[in-house]
Amino acid sequence: MAAGDAASHYTAGVGFPTDPLPKDAMTRSAADLLTKVKTKIVATLGPASEGPDQLAALVAAGADVFRLNMAHGDHAWHDAVLARVRALGESLHRPIAVLTDLGGPKIRLAPIDGGKLDCAPGDIVFFVTDASAASSPRHLRSTYPTLVEELRVGDLVLLSDGTVALRVEQKQPDAVRCRCVQPGEIRSGGGINLPGADLAVPALTPKDYDDLRWAVAHGVDFIGQSFVRRAADVRLLRDELARLGGRAHIVAKIEKPQAVEALDDIIRGADAIMVARGDLGVEIDLARIAVVQKQIIARCQQARVPVITATQMLESMRTSRMPTRAEATDVANAILDGSDALMLSAETAIGQYPVEAVAMMNRIAHETEPLIVPQFTLPAQPSAVTTDVPAVPAAIVEATSRVADQIRAKLVIVATHSGNTALALSKWRSRTPILGISDEPATTRRMCLYWGVTPLDAPRFENSVELMRHVTQWGRDHQVLETGDRVVLVASTQGTAAGHDMMVVHEVR
Ligand code: PEP
Repeated sequence: MAAGDAASHYTAGVGFPTDPLPKDAMTRSAADLLTKVKTKIVATLGPASEGPDQLAALVAAGADVFRLNMAHGDHAWHDAVLARVRALGESLHRPIAVLTDLGGPKIRLAPIDGGKLDCAPGDIVFFVTDASAASSPRHLRSTYPTLVEELRVGDLVLLSDGTVALRVEQKQPDAVRCRCVQPGEIRSGGGINLPGADLAVPALTPKDYDDLRWAVAHGVDFIGQSFVRRAADVRLLRDELARLGGRAHIVAKIEKPQAVEALDDIIRGADAIMVARGDLGVEIDLARIAVVQKQIIARCQQARVPVITATQMLESMRTSRMPTRAEATDVANAILDGSDALMLSAETAIGQYPVEAVAMMNRIAHETEPLIVPQFTLPAQPSAVTTDVPAVPAAIVEATSRVADQIRAKLVIVATHSGNTALALSKWRSRTPILGISDEPATTRRMCLYWGVTPLDAPRFENSVELMRHVTQWGRDHQVLETGDRVVLVASTQGTAAGHDMMVVHEVR
């Protein structure tokens, strides 16, 4: 479901926080982060959250990643908001990641005479190809030029977030006749969902290409790809990203039944997955949504790929200070399913209580996380998806998670170039906080999405002894570590790019 439907055009504003924190804040802020919940929070930005003070309040409440939804707002608006997010990160001396979500090939209704149409059960409605054929409000057009050509008799056309259903009854020259089988109101510009129909619609629209160029030029950290149907769609985006010289990670949004079927291939091709329950809940039987969510998350866990659960998590908080019991339970269950991150959409983009929504999600995570069972305490499961982590680093990562738990270590420290080892550690769901250190700002920002990982920008260290000394001193200076505490360091004898092959246990003296 599109976040921010009610606010179709955001306006660009100006103004950055002018009051940077003291120099020491970089390390203090990372120390504070170690006490934060482990589940990461993605907050969608919009008119309710675009200002510098609102952004700062969202971060203080627990937001780790901000989502810019390209289906709303123009580039000037996104420019201004992104600049504010980057300025906030600098003033707080902490990484904040940005996810740019491409609108994708969403088919929409063209304008309807009078803006809306009531469909009663049994009503006949036509889809027509051109404007001249649209002689009455019951003659609908769409933004997809070959819709009429591609629809088949028997296809179901869903409108208004799946609340209105039309069944294709007859194909005519330049039109299809449909009968309303589920009544309701439809509006100009509303989304059209065709569950199961295999349309020839391209994976990336001209607007997506344009938005992608913007995202690469602005160095965003994650690109969300909407309406992925197959692994080839992700490859297309990856090729285009490479052609533009972009290094952002791809978040494939699972919101089509075809994507659920091709899940393992899509997971292999993507860097992260989103359970995009808005459109998914229209495209599949809503009664199956919880089961499909659990299947997607379990596959991502096996494949060691981060997974974000999204949409309507705290929907009622758009207009209420408190969520419903069902929403609070849904958030907790998504965490227990194994989500690495949870996403807020309309709640933070256009809601009345954006900060309260993030704070509530944070509080639910705080109460729920003690129930998470470390993966290494469970019987080994056959993996349906092969992972790309080579054998030695994978073994070191598993051993580190076990040892940290066994000796009740205060911290696991990983110096990482790509962030991959921090991600692999995160997936074991150890109770020990992970400090992900990198001299690469793009990597520390990326680690904002990884469950249980506190990203920390740091200089490059000559060797692991120097790194351990620095972190121990930092921990002492900021009351994170004291004499007798144990830390486990994952390091590499050949430089981090060559793979982690060493685990060191250190007792603070
Ligand atoms: C969704 O459909 O759940 C989703 C996250 O996508 P969007 O908000 O872009 O519609």
